[in-house]
This record gives sequence, C-alpha cells and structure tokens, in this order.
Amino acid sequence: MHLELTFLTEDETIREACKLYWARSPDGQFIHSVKGVATLTGIPTSKIPQLTKKHCRASTDDISCSECEESYVFTNRTDYVNSQNADRDWVCSPCLEAIREIEEAELFERQQAETKKKREILANVLQRRKDNNELRPEELNARECIQLLSLIRYAASEDISYIHPIASIDDNSSLTTGSYEDQNLVTDLYQKGLIVIHPDTNVNAISLKSDESFNFYPMHVSWALPVIDDHLSISNFVIQLDERIRSSDFLHLHFDEIKQLCAEIALEECLAFLSYTLADHGLNFSPGDKTKLTLSKALEHYSVAQVNNFIWGASKDAAAYFMRASVSKKQAANSVVKNIQQRFERSIANDWEVKPFRRNYDLPQSTLSRTLFNVVLMSDDGGFDKPIQKLLHSRLDDSDCPAQEPAQESESIEDHCPF
Ligand SMILES: [Zn+2]
Repeated sequence: MHLELTFLTEDETIREACKLYWARSPDGQFIHSVKGVATLTGIPTSKIPQLTKKHCRASTDDISCSECEESYVFTNRTDYVNSQNADRDWVCSPCLEAIREIEEAELFERQQAETKKKREILANVLQRRKDNNELRPEELNARECIQLLSLIRYAASEDISYIHPIASIDDNSSLTTGSYEDQNLVTDLYQKGLIVIHPDTNVNAISLKSDESFNFYPMHVSWALPVIDDHLSISNFVIQLDERIRSSDFLHLHFDEIKQLCAEIALEECLAFLSYTLADHGLNFSPGDKTKLTLSKALEHYSVAQVNNFIWGASKDAAAYFMRASVSKKQAANSVVKNIQQRFERSIANDWEVKPFRRNYDLPQSTLSRTLFNVVLMSDDGGFDKPIQKLLHSRLDDSDCPAQEPAQESESIEDHCPF
C-alpha cells in the first residue's frame, strides 16, 4: 500500500524519527522496531508513538472517503497493519458528522409532518363531531351528565377550553377509585362521542395507522368537548350541565339510573378498600364476580363505611389464617369473601349494630363520588356513610333537604364492634 508522509514540524530529528517509524521493506514489513527508531534518533522509546502521530500524517490514496475522496490517515502502525485486510469502504469523520446532521434534519421534518398530519386528522374528527351532532346537556342521560361533569371538575383547564390528560393530574384528588376505573370512564365517554381528543394534545400519545385511523392512550391525551368553539359556549354548556344535575327533578326523572350508579360507586369503594387492606397484610387478591356479588349484597343493607368493617375483620382473619395454617397466600386471600358473607349475614340475623369505619386517608372521596353524592344527592360523602337505599329515599322524600349530618367517626375500630 502506498504511503504519503506529510510532516507537521520543521524539527529534523522528529522528521527523521517519523521516516524511520514508517519505513517499510519491499514486502511491506516495517523495517525498524519502535525501540530501534528510538536508538537511531536518541528520542526516548515511550515518546516515539506520540511524536510520530503528532508531527506526521501518514496517508494513503488506496483508501479514501467514499463521500469526499479524502485520503485515509493512519493513526499508527497497528492501524496500518489492520487496514491491509479491512473493508476499504470508509467515510471520514467530517462526512459522517454531515450525514448525521442531514439524517437528524430529515427525521425532524418527518416528525413535524407527522405531527401536523395527526393534528389535522384530530381537528377534522372534532369538527365532524360538532357538525354532525353538537353536544347538548339535555340530550345526555343521568350517568353521562354525572360522569362528564366529574371529568370536567377533575381535569378541565382554567378556561375550560380543554381537559387535561388524566395521567397528568398530580394532586391528592382522584377521578374515580383507581386508574383502571378512570380509564373506563374516559373510554366510555369517548366511545359515546361526548368527548373528543383535543387537536393540541400531546401527539406522542397518538399512533397513526396507514388508513389514517389511529390508536391512542386514553389516560395520556387531552380532551375537547364537541360544543361550538367560542369560550362562552363551552362555559354555558358546563353551567347548564351543572344546573341540570342540581335541579330538584333530576333524581325523580332518573331514579333507577342514579340508584345503579350509586351502587356501582359504593361497590368500587369497597373493592378498593378490600385490595388496600389485603395488600396491607401482604396478601394479593383479584376480585371476581363472586366477590362483587357478595359485596353488592352487603351494600343492600349496609353503608360502605359498615361494609368496610366486615372487610377489615375478614382481611385480619385471612392474615391470621395464613400465619396459622400452612396455606398459600392465594388460598388465605380467597377465604376473605366467604368470611365477609358470614359476617354480614350474622349481623343481619342478629340485628347487630355495625360500627362504621372512617374513610381511609389513602382512599379519599373521588370526584365522581362527590358529584353524585354531594351535588346530586346533597349529602356530605353520603355514599360512604349511609346505605344507598336509605340515602336515596331520604332525598326523594324531601328534595329540598339540606346537606345531611356526616356519619359519626369511630375512635376505635374495635369499639362496639360485634366481631
Ligand atoms: Zn469525507
């Protein structure tokens, strides 16, 4: 391989050292060892590699940059030896950097174009939804009114022009009893067309498909209400929605629907407390239909606060069962449902007074519960403290009744507890 030496110093001794360093025999072998070069020039052996690299460029036309045709410069003799058999397709560093910059710019342009396309598609979807069937409060059923208003109360921007992604809300409040239920609520509203993905959402939460439809992460997108654009109309919509659920005939007109929603929220509260107490005892449990059926049955007679008493006692027994008997954690956790059932059936049969539990600090009242129980039913967390039947009928009996007394808080969970 041809070698071209270019010296970068006027120092004759160093130039001589470089010539000796790179000198080769006709068969291509290096003539002098590094130590030999040092002996011949009087330069210390340890300095030869550094000096030859710094003061001499050893290049070859046999290898050149495929982009700019710049000759290859060897870093040292090892590099030269390795290059004999190496792939000679080479791109120099400045050209590599230029290519990288071009690729980055192209990627940025592609991303910009994709972002623009996503926003156009989302804007079209929103516009079509408005044109076809603008959202009107009077057309919503009771569940939709309460769910939608809860979402607005929980996550709407200050000017109500959009609804923040649920996953971005980082305070002590909650929309429902958990993220799984949160996602179900927004997905439900989305599928009914009551909320639409906001065109200014974080586009990374949207994934376009080839037919211009898209997938998205329901917890990570911003939402828009499909009402006419100007700010006043959105405000009016929310005011009308709020007035409607507060109206005295709302409960009368939608009694069965509201009763069903009350029962669902109470059940979710109990399931959340069950998971919490079992986890507290190191037991994991996935509630199925049997658990839901048992808790729903208990909730026909007792408040969430009272059913939580059964749950707490049953969880404590399950933990003791796990410690005492050689059973698996799963088996111990499964014993909870039967235990809860026995507890509330004995309480009913013996007409025991069941002491209500206080609301757990880690399981605060959700926004959905507050909208339903505090706003619609005008009770202070009544869905927790009062049996649903009793709460609904006391509200029906006197639609103008004021906010009810909060339930007594228990000082001790064992105090007056029949178990
Ligand atoms: Zn180049």
